[in-house]
Amino acid sequence: MGEPQPRGRFGEYGGRYAPESLVEACREVDEAFREAWADPGFRGALARLLAVHAGRPTPLTPAWRLSGELGVQLYLKREDLTHTGSHKINNVLGQALLATRMGRRRLIAETGAGQHGVATATAAALLGLEATVFMGERDIERQALNVFRMRMLGAEVVPVTTGSRTLKDATSEAMRHWVGATGDSHYCLGSVVGPDPYPWMVREFQRVIGDEARGQCAAELRTGVPDHVVACVGGGSNAAGTFAGFADTSARFVGVEAEGGAGAARGRLGVLHGCRSLFLQDDDGQITEAHSIAAGLDYPGVGPEHAHLRDLGRARYVTVTDDEAVRAAVRLARTEGIVPALESAHALAWIIRAVAGGELPAGSTVLMTLSGRGDKDISTLKELV
Ligand SMILES: *Cc1c(COP(=O)(O)O)cnc(C)c1O
Repeated sequence: MGEPQPRGRFGEYGGRYAPESLVEACREVDEAFREAWADPGFRGALARLLAVHAGRPTPLTPAWRLSGELGVQLYLKREDLTHTGSHKINNVLGQALLATRMGRRRLIAETGAGQHGVATATAAALLGLEATVFMGERDIERQALNVFRMRMLGAEVVPVTTGSRTLKDATSEAMRHWVGATGDSHYCLGSVVGPDPYPWMVREFQRVIGDEARGQCAAELRTGVPDHVVACVGGGSNAAGTFAGFADTSARFVGVEAEGGAGAARGRLGVLHGCRSLFLQDDDGQITEAHSIAAGLDYPGVGPEHAHLRDLGRARYVTVTDDEAVRAAVRLARTEGIVPALESAHALAWIIRAVAGGELPAGSTVLMTLSGRGDKDISTLKELV
């Protein structure tokens, strides 16, 4: 999983479908990122921030009791233990440092549940930048705690009142706002979606998950490499970062989507937010709403690299229902003492089903990325558990 070839393309997906002024801004981000990523000074500064502020490396935890019950060896890559509680911080610290290097003084971001918004507000505070976060009005109502966290951190939260007033509209609005602010602002996109170079750049910033896990598996597992690598997929950044660390191995990749947000499993070719990829659409080609109990999986499409990995057969994409995810979250809490984010619980739910159905044979080794902690989901869960 290297640089997209030809430039900006993953097979027939990817590209930079944006108004001329944003094409130019993306070109600048692309150039600055290439330079920074080749600069040991930049990499060193980012590694230090990830260590001293975000708490990396995160542990690889053997899920002892659950493994015993399932008859497979399950290992959890613990992104829930990072500062702010999900993998989003890895990407955001990278982009915030890049923005500083480019002389930008403000970060613009979109957010759905608020996890990416909180991570962006955090990185902005840390590096002395301003932050403007676009958030759908409906999500603002549903996620009061994260809205408060962003404001506490000094970010401006802008309510988006267009369309369905959720993540898709917040992303459109953030991009529109960037058009008029490219000179002093960097658009800090939260997943492996959007125009080139974002899908590639965000995956590189999330690669730290896979690279760390690779070394930890080499030390912990008898086989060195797990048989299966499993992660949940919203836009696809925690999965892409995890897969990247095992690209040169024979590990089988599984991306787990929400039943109501299955861009890779059920989407059709389209263009949204500057990118050609797979999106949920109605018969007229209109992009439809995604629905999931896990707000982070509520994106109606998937990043272009996942669409390509699917076509190549290198990764497979499966879906899990809200119910299965809730049951998996409870099971992990009660066997391992870990309350996962509902997003991450989707990955576990598939593993549990695949063991029952014989797709994961007894004795298999399975690495799963636990993308975040469940605290943010308590108000949802307490109605159901
Ligand atoms: C945002 C989020 C996701 C989904 O985003 P990806 O880009 O697919 O990784 C998954 N888990 C958590 C905890 C999140 O906050």
